[in-house]
Amino acid sequence: MSFESHIRVECVRILGKEWVKDDPITLYTYRCDGLTLYTAPPMGVVFPGTVHELASIVKLLHQHKISFIARGAGTGLSGGAIPQDGSVIIEMARFKEVHEVDLINRTITVGPGVINLRITEHVHSEGYHYAPDPSSQKACSIGGNVAENSGGPHTLKYGVTVNHVLGVEMVLPDGELVTLGGKHLGMPGPDMLGLVTGSEGTFGIITKIICRLTPNPENAVTMLGIYNSVRDACESVSSIIRHGIIPAAMEMLDKITIYAVEKALKPGFPLDAEAVLIVELDGLADGLDAEAEVVEKLLKDSGATTVKRARDEVERAKIWRARKEAFGAIGQISPSYYVQDGVIPRSKLPEVLDEIAEIGKKYGLTVANVFHAGDGNLHPLILYDYENPQEIEKAHLIGEEILSSCIRHGGTLSGEHGIGLEKAEWMSELYSGSSLDNMQNVRAFFNPENLLNPGKIFPQPGRCAESKSGTPPKAGAVLDKSKLVAAKSGIAV
Ligand SMILES: Cc1cc2nc3c(=O)[nH]c(=O)nc-3n(C[C@H](O)[C@H](O)[C@H](O)COP(=O)(O)OP(=O)(O)OC[C@H]3O[C@@H](n4cnc5c(N)ncnc54)[C@H](O)[C@@H]3O)c2cc1C
Repeated sequence: MSFESHIRVECVRILGKEWVKDDPITLYTYRCDGLTLYTAPPMGVVFPGTVHELASIVKLLHQHKISFIARGAGTGLSGGAIPQDGSVIIEMARFKEVHEVDLINRTITVGPGVINLRITEHVHSEGYHYAPDPSSQKACSIGGNVAENSGGPHTLKYGVTVNHVLGVEMVLPDGELVTLGGKHLGMPGPDMLGLVTGSEGTFGIITKIICRLTPNPENAVTMLGIYNSVRDACESVSSIIRHGIIPAAMEMLDKITIYAVEKALKPGFPLDAEAVLIVELDGLADGLDAEAEVVEKLLKDSGATTVKRARDEVERAKIWRARKEAFGAIGQISPSYYVQDGVIPRSKLPEVLDEIAEIGKKYGLTVANVFHAGDGNLHPLILYDYENPQEIEKAHLIGEEILSSCIRHGGTLSGEHGIGLEKAEWMSELYSGSSLDNMQNVRAFFNPENLLNPGKIFPQPGRCAESKSGTPPKAGAVLDKSKLVAAKSGIAV
């Protein structure tokens, strides 16, 4: 697949030759995002550098009824940036300008291509940071974060992306430029900004974001609880919350993950532990020690064999590096992995983790766990070999059984990675047909012809016939999985 020649000519006229690509290497590179279980090549990739160029490209594609997808850093884990029907990819990486830092209003205005961690680096010496900190923050873009409403370890206390975005500028799928929100608090009328945040790149292409800045805490205490059983670690999570303490973060790693991070990063986690729980408290220096003592006691009372405190910034950074790079560390013990992202009520953690272990055993694959324990947001990592088609199939089945388990225990499909392509067909397990229709009507308000990122979030027509209302979605693109190629089993570029 590549650009039709008249489209290529027009794209080159708008952007210049170097920013329009459809050579085999580019198409191969952009065939998937972080969800490598599915791949499909785009028609081509364009790299606009200004809002005017972006709007011109969008108008061109709209006029020719060619579908398109915005892409940030491609770290998404639900296939949101996979061009499953040969869409054109609009890469937003060149929008990396920091437009303004306004410390009086505690805001920073950035382009969507700015990498999450760069925002904090930009303002840290001024005493501020950008609070949502996905583990991928060294790589993912703020545009992708807004599209996915991303979370991270510290969103337990500080809230997810939607709580830290005050305004956006975006290009609608017909090329019109609109702004939503601003530096001021709230807007009268329905919360359109809230709707756009988390719309997974299906409402518009974001070109500018006003982010809220958070003052750096005066102090932080980071503790590591060590456990002989995952159940005890889960009990500690409940015990802390029940006690009315909201830590800045509460993250759990199981034995398999401990082994992988020790192999890759050597943070000094005990290899004989069944689980470790990272608990971080932050805030005013006064009183923090006393709170840490309470937490330490709660951890021990609920089964921690040892509780260690990071003695300085170096030890604290080591612990956090191990947590945030844990997915990558799994590469030390498995050729590939598939990350699930279910959410359950915190109280159900022990049962669901036991069930996940049983599901893994049933299919003969290892499932590691590293997750946002405080939020009940699980990230089972299903380890498989991408050269082995049977293992690929088993990884899919394990993922599905884990999702079923989460739903059965009163949870839901995604905590932060989004529905994307991966879980679109699961939406009818959660919502009635009329609810899905209503949601798609909202999408149709922004994206009436469904040219922007089709086939994402909602089930394909036909599947929806199973829905309670029996009404098929109004503007659904056909998700043709035959066009998707399981990773490594052949790439159709
Ligand atoms: C190792 C690893 C760890 C991770 N940890 C976390 C975590 O802790 N928390 C978490 O929430 N996620 C996590 N993720 C998932 C991922 O990093 C986030 O979803 C992130 O927000 C995606 O950003 P991106 O720039 O890579 O977006 P992409 O993958 O490029 O795109 C994601 C979606 O956003 C849309 N999009 C991108 N840019 C724009 C734009 N400018 N306008 C409109 N739509 C746009 C795309 O169309 C797509 O639908 C992790 C991923 C990896 C690989």
